[in-house]
Amino acid sequence: MDIDKYDVLSLNIDEIKNILCDIGEKPYRANQIFKWCHNSFAESFNEMSNIPKGLKNQLNNIIYFPKMNIAERFLSKKDNTIKYLFEIENNNIIESVFMRYEYGNAVCISTQAGCKMGCSFCASAIGGFERNLTAGEMLLQVYKMQKDSGLRVSNIVLMGSGEPLDNFDNTIKFIELVSSKDGVNIGQRHITVSTCGIADKIYELAKKKFQINLAVSLHAPNDAIRRKIMPIALKYSFREVLEAAKEYAYITKRRVTFEYALISGINDSDECARELSFEMKGFLSHVNLIPVNNVAEKNYVKSSEKKVKHFADILRKNGVNTTIRRRLGSDINAACGQLRRGYKKPDEV
Ligand code: SAH
Repeated sequence: MDIDKYDVLSLNIDEIKNILCDIGEKPYRANQIFKWCHNSFAESFNEMSNIPKGLKNQLNNIIYFPKMNIAERFLSKKDNTIKYLFEIENNNIIESVFMRYEYGNAVCISTQAGCKMGCSFCASAIGGFERNLTAGEMLLQVYKMQKDSGLRVSNIVLMGSGEPLDNFDNTIKFIELVSSKDGVNIGQRHITVSTCGIADKIYELAKKKFQINLAVSLHAPNDAIRRKIMPIALKYSFREVLEAAKEYAYITKRRVTFEYALISGINDSDECARELSFEMKGFLSHVNLIPVNNVAEKNYVKSSEKKVKHFADILRKNGVNTTIRRRLGSDINAACGQLRRGYKKPDEV
């Protein structure tokens, strides 16, 4: 990564125009460059046949193309989910997942290499935090998977490694670029940002008035349990997170999803279900239950299928909109919370 240069995929058309103006070039070239990058997925100026050679050379001194190579690819035998390990600038490794649903193809992308949040049940936290991804690096995950699979991406979830709202500006830029009419034009209603509950940033996100979906990783019906499993709950109380989510629903008129990973003996009691039902009363929300996925280093046990159904029944009886998440890619460690910072290169095993 060259910090003195602009990452071409993180620039919108106006920003490219400004760069061109600074070097005395015609602004219309910005549209051409943007189209090459975001419609034809060009990976260098060389591919841009309508840009003069002299200008290409000049731009190469100011702008760089972020690097992202497929380090490994795993295909699930169960459901055709593909997990990608990408090697990015600085040799960091990130993971992304391509999933097929009846309604289209969804990708799960990472927003950071590693993660600072330290949720006790999640693999992404194990190796600690490495760095924020740029907006361009978030886009590139989508483009690479679309190119490699030959299939169009219709939905995006920011649920890979990292905390999107801890990389706020780049996440906002990503949403603007990926939903731009001149780019891949993925509708904001098809984009979901998932957060562990950084309340201040939820308010900031609401102010953007995007039409995206917000998912909040709640995983507990109160502070006592939440603080045991999610360090972020020490900073923002259960009440603060819920108030922020309510404000988000109120401002955007979008239904908020609460993710709840059921861990046996920790947060799956009838009492928890009743407490959660009470908290969900009276606002536009939806609870998505996930039997916690195994993470080798953690000794959490997932709740039984029967228990999950029972938990869901209690919520539904109390009028809470509830779904149980399908676990795609579980045989290739591509399910929620199984994405991790690095992988062992063959010579390190
Ligand atoms: N940092 C964001 C997004 C990344 S995690 C967030 O916390 O929401 C995406 C989702 O997977 C979150 O709901 C997270 O809590 C959940 N998750 C993490 N580890 C999990 C596990 N072992 N089993 C099931 N879900 C898990």
